[in-house]
Amino acid sequence: MEEKVSGGNHVLVVPYPSQGHINPMLQFSKRLCSKGLRVTMLTTIFISNSMHLQSSSLLGSVQLDFISDGYDEGGFAEAASIESYLSRMQEVGSKSLRELINKYNSSDKPIDCVVYDPLLIWVLDVAKEFRLLGAAFFTQMCAVNFIYYHVYHGLLKVPILSPISVPGLPLLHPRDAPPFVCDPAFYPAYFHLVINQFSNIHKADLLLVNSFYKLEDQVVDSMSKVFPVLTIGPTVPSFHLDKAIPDDTDNVLNLFELDTSPITWLKQKPPESVIYISFGSMVCFSSHQMEEIAFALMATGFNFLWVIPDFNTKNLSKEMGKKIDACGRGLIVNWAPQLEVLSNHAVGCFFTHCGWNSTLEALCLGVPMVALPQWTDQPTDAKFVEDVWKVGIRLKEDENGIVTREEIQNSIRVVMEKELGREMRSNAKKWKELAIEAVTQGGTSDHNINLFIKHLKKS
Ligand code: UDP
Repeated sequence: MEEKVSGGNHVLVVPYPSQGHINPMLQFSKRLCSKGLRVTMLTTIFISNSMHLQSSSLLGSVQLDFISDGYDEGGFAEAASIESYLSRMQEVGSKSLRELINKYNSSDKPIDCVVYDPLLIWVLDVAKEFRLLGAAFFTQMCAVNFIYYHVYHGLLKVPILSPISVPGLPLLHPRDAPPFVCDPAFYPAYFHLVINQFSNIHKADLLLVNSFYKLEDQVVDSMSKVFPVLTIGPTVPSFHLDKAIPDDTDNVLNLFELDTSPITWLKQKPPESVIYISFGSMVCFSSHQMEEIAFALMATGFNFLWVIPDFNTKNLSKEMGKKIDACGRGLIVNWAPQLEVLSNHAVGCFFTHCGWNSTLEALCLGVPMVALPQWTDQPTDAKFVEDVWKVGIRLKEDENGIVTREEIQNSIRVVMEKELGREMRSNAKKWKELAIEAVTQGGTSDHNINLFIKHLKKS
C-alpha cells in the first residue's frame, strides 16, 4: 500500500519559468499529491495569461497559482537581455512571492514548505523570511550540479581548457563539460546563474535532484560526502514507466501548442521503424544545419517525426518542407506529446539535443539516442549517454562547426540497424527497469520522497 500522510501539509513549488524546468517540478508535485500533500505550483502571470490559466486551475491534483516576473505582457522576450530579465524577476518576483505566501498564510491553507528551483536563489531567501522549510530541486543531473559546485568553491578553475577530473565522474574533455564553465565570458549571465545556485544553498533544508541512484551512483556517493543530495527521479509519470504503478492523471503544462496527430500517425507504423527528432524548447539551429538534418533524415529511408517549434520554423526553407512532404515518410509538428511518442513501439531512435528531461525520458522509456548537444548541461548528458550508460551515439561537428548529413545519416543507421544499436536498445531497456525500481514503493527515489515528507511532518 502507498504510504499516505495525514493532515495534508501545503507545499509551494516554484520552477524557473521554462518548459524544461516546469515539467519535472510539476511531475514531482503530482507525486507529492499522490502521497497526501497539498501542492500549489507557481508559474508567471505571463504564462498564465498566454495559456488562459486561472489561479483556481488544477493540473490533475496540483493547484496552479501565479507570481509576476516583472514581464507580465511579453515574458522573457520582452526583456532587453537575460541580465535584465533575471534582475527584474528577482526584484518583482520576491515582492510578488511574499504577497502570495501572505495570502495563503491568512487562509485555511498556510504554506509549510517551499520547493524551489535553485536558479531562483531569491525564492529560498523569501521562504526563510517566513521561516518555512526550503528544499532545492535541481532539474539537471547530479554530475552537472557537482561540476558547478566545484566551480563555485574554486575547486575547478575556469575557463576549462583541458580535461577535468571531478570525483565520481569520468574524465571530461572541454567538449563534454557545460559550455558555461568552459567559456564563462561567452555566457556571463548563465555562468553566474548556474554557479550562484550554491551561494545560499547552506540555508536549504534539503537538496533534491531529478535523477535516480543507480543511474549516477558514483557521482551521488562522491557528492554525498560534501553535498548530500536526495535523488527523487525520474519524474517521468509512473503511468508511462509501468502501467501497473498507480498515478495521477497524465497532465502536463505545454507552453507550446500541442499537436496530437503524431499518435495516430505512429499507430500505422511498424515497430521500431520511426526516428523521433526533437531538440527541446530552446535550441535553434541555423538554416544550414537544418538542411543537413533534413537531407540526412530523408536519405536514411526511415520514417521520421520531427518537432520544429515555431521559433525555428523559419530556418527550414519552404523548398525543404516540400521535399519532406513529397518523400511521404516524414511528419513535422510544432510540439508533440513527447512521452506518448517515446512510449510508442513504432519509435526506433530519438535524435535529441540531450536536454536532461529528454535524456531521462528516453532512458526510462528504453529508447536509444543520437545526440546533438548544444549548450548548458547537454554536452555532459551526451557524454554519459555515449560512454557511461552506452545508450547512444554523440555526433561530431566538422571543422566549420556543422554536423554533416553523412555523419547524421551514418549514426542513425548504426542505432536503427546495427548490432551496436541493438546493444544500446537493450541497455536502455535495463535503465528503464532500474528507473521503475527506483520510483516503485520502497525504491531509492520513493524512499527519498518519503524522507522529504517525514522531514516536512516533523518541522
Ligand atoms: N517536450 C514535449 N514535446 C515536444 C518536445 C519536448 O512535450 O515536442 C518536452 C519533453 O518531454 C521534455 C521537455 O519538453 O520534458 C524539454 O525539456 P528538456 O530538458 O529535454 O529540454 P529543454 O527544452 O529544457 O532544452
